[in-house]
Amino acid sequence: METLVANPYHGVPRLPDLPIATHLETDARELVLTFDDGPHPDWSGPILDVLARKQVPATFFLVGHNARNHPDLVRRMAAEGHVLANHTDTHPKLPEIADAAVDDEIARCQETLEALTGRRPSLFRPTYGRYDARVARALDREGLTAVQWSMMTWDWLAPTVAEALAWHGAQLAPGGISLLHDGANIRRDSREATLAMLPHLIDQAREAGYTWVALDQRVHQLA
Ligand SMILES: [Zn+2]
Repeated sequence: METLVANPYHGVPRLPDLPIATHLETDARELVLTFDDGPHPDWSGPILDVLARKQVPATFFLVGHNARNHPDLVRRMAAEGHVLANHTDTHPKLPEIADAAVDDEIARCQETLEALTGRRPSLFRPTYGRYDARVARALDREGLTAVQWSMMTWDWLAPTVAEALAWHGAQLAPGGISLLHDGANIRRDSREATLAMLPHLIDQAREAGYTWVALDQRVHQLA
């Protein structure tokens, strides 16, 4: 990822033989905000409060199992105009599970979100950013478009707000898709750092002339 600044911890997992959208193809100063792994009873609500206060539309890549445990949070996300998307049912590493399980992970999350909101998701993000040809085929069958990201703050490592702003600011580019986490599947961490940085990240981008846009209205620009 040419736009990522050096970071001592992580790179972006990406398989070059299976192209997947990472950003919007645009010259406009528009950005997309995304959250993975929720809903979470401690963090999704406060994050929704910030988004409402700042009037920013987000996309939540939800885990089906978590959605069934916290249906009120899923309904709140939908009611507040956010896009709900598929991030598997139990957050496995998809390339490491059996063929039938790959299909099941994707289908069960679809069914759960449709049952809770009346809408079948059209967007999918692979867990840990990892996928293979079987995942690509399952997405085709479900009519799902896969979306990765082009910007991140490594929020699950709990950086300070200053670190997050420095990293995020260096990655700002037209059509950027920013990755944050409201859930806690990768580590059983607090998402306090995400919550603390969120209003500052929103403002930093706006001060640089960027607008936060809803991903479902920009699907045709995914690249
Ligand atoms: Zn995840």
